[in-house]
Amino acid sequence: VLFGTESSRKVIRLLEDAGHEAVFVGGAVRDHVLGKRASDIDIATSAEPQEVLALFPLTVDVGSAHGTVIVLMDGEPIEVTTYRTEGTYTDHRRPDEVRFVKSLRDDLLRRDFTMNALAMTKEGELIDLFGGQQDLAGGLIRAVGNAAERFAEDALRMLRAIRFTAVLGFRIETETFEAIRVEAERIQHVSVERVKDEMDKLFKGPYPLKAFQSFQDSGLAAYLPLFPTDIEKLNRCVPFRSVLEGWAAFMLAGDFTPAELTRAYKLSNNEKTFLTAVHHAVAIRSTRMYSIDDYYHFNEDVLITAEKLSTIQPGVVQALSPQEIMQNKQLLPIQSAAELAVKGKDLIQWTGMKGGRWTGEWLAKIEKAVLHNWCENEPNKIKEWFSHEYKREN
Ligand code: ATP
Ligand code: MG
Repeated sequence: VLFGTESSRKVIRLLEDAGHEAVFVGGAVRDHVLGKRASDIDIATSAEPQEVLALFPLTVDVGSAHGTVIVLMDGEPIEVTTYRTEGTYTDHRRPDEVRFVKSLRDDLLRRDFTMNALAMTKEGELIDLFGGQQDLAGGLIRAVGNAAERFAEDALRMLRAIRFTAVLGFRIETETFEAIRVEAERIQHVSVERVKDEMDKLFKGPYPLKAFQSFQDSGLAAYLPLFPTDIEKLNRCVPFRSVLEGWAAFMLAGDFTPAELTRAYKLSNNEKTFLTAVHHAVAIRSTRMYSIDDYYHFNEDVLITAEKLSTIQPGVVQALSPQEIMQNKQLLPIQSAAELAVKGKDLIQWTGMKGGRWTGEWLAKIEKAVLHNWCENEPNKIKEWFSHEYKREN
């Protein structure tokens, strides 16, 4: 089987027909050699951005100053980047200057690790100038060129190395690892957004513990915005079900509050909401099992993650599997107030009173009665229950 999609090979062919060089590069080639499904496909070319823009009828200029153009080929977006070298990253976000070059070798030299510096022709022939194939076979993450220099140019690469240990289960080659120890403090100057992106990918990987171990052993942990001192606690809950679960585990292992972690890593509102709910649910779970109200109040993901992560707390063992939690939640008579068989207007009709605050208050009582099976979720049964209770109170 050939590498890449039909459309991506067509883009390369058209570039070649116009007299340029073009090859597949980056993570997709690495993943292909590993026998994994390729992620997003990147093409590198000797053609300059203006030439790429002129050659294809449908393009999106996403960053031609840095060399990147998206070509829409038969409806498929294909990223095409001009061969380039990079200066240093003074602002730790983007290289100060990129210089377009004509040789693939120069382009591959700027890439971070040997496994990420592989290229492939549209015929599927591997171009391996720095021993990337051998490192892939050996499970080694090795910097291209002098590791310390490469990390001084862009400190994020240290975090990428560690992220790949979690994603691929690889080991960081000795000299490269030594360079992380030496250059570790530079990570402080990298923008939180870039750091957070790598953490997200790391949490998704099958071997996050390897990454946490590397953070600790390299000393990089000390320079991250927040890092749990006791990574042993994470042992019992890896791999994570989701990125969110990873952040929640990170929070609990470090004894951080949701607010602290959100501030330190600029997490989104969504992420903060999830962390807050898990924090709350774990606090409940470390004293007792979830109640009916807990099952109702927390969503399924929160309950499952909290059950799993409560084992971080001393003395708590995971009692329920995700399936059992889902079943228990499904057993509730209703999942939300919207499922109630009556509405405010029914109460108004039954009592002949004008709607007001009392309607909402009584709907809440009915919701509770239905949830706890004191009353069936059926209009007549609810009316009966309501009439009785209403009379009692008024
Ligand atoms: P993923 O599978 O997560 O996409 P990736 O290696 O493809 O991993 P990208 O961020 O998509 O990561 O980058 C594509 C390629 O660009 C990399 O394979 C590498 O060759 C190069 N690259 C990315 N970031 C850096 C960096 N900070 N320094 C040097 N080269 C980099
Ligand atoms: Mg990629």
